[in-house]
Amino acid sequence: MPRMADCLFCRIVAGDVPASVVRETERTVVFRDIAPQARTHLLVVPREHHQDAAALAGADPGLLAALVTDAAQAAAVDGIDRSGYRLVFNTGPDSGQTVFHVHLHVLGGAPLGHFGEPDFGEHRRPSGG
Ligand code: 5GP
Ligand code: ZN
Repeated sequence: MPRMADCLFCRIVAGDVPASVVRETERTVVFRDIAPQARTHLLVVPREHHQDAAALAGADPGLLAALVTDAAQAAAVDGIDRSGYRLVFNTGPDSGQTVFHVHLHVLGGAPLGHFGEPDFGEHRRPSGG
């Protein structure tokens, strides 16, 4: 899908909504998250509209790979390529996905906390399996 008029990230890609853009390629745009959850918090977005990572993987695996490559290059721009970073695709309701235009979160700049369900240890099976 090329573009959807009511999609926030389609509008950012088109330049209709301002964003702090870090890097642009023919197929992707990287900009800073408006509500950062780490010292560096970038969003890598394809110019084309796809709902989530699974939809993109089915439609265009090369573009999915480009998001990861661009995340690495944007991490280098912010100087966190050697210290490390976390890549996250939120997908669907339990993940907290709020924007249904696939985006790869890049988080770093300092050691990150653990992730997953809060207090999950209480639910873990004794075997650990
Ligand atoms: P999700 O929760 O869907 O994985 O991530 C959506 C992200 O988009 C959130 O981290 C949120 O802070 C960010 N976001 C929402 N609206 C805007 C906006 O207008 N500009 C920018 N730069 N980021 C936004
Ligand atoms: Zn979109």
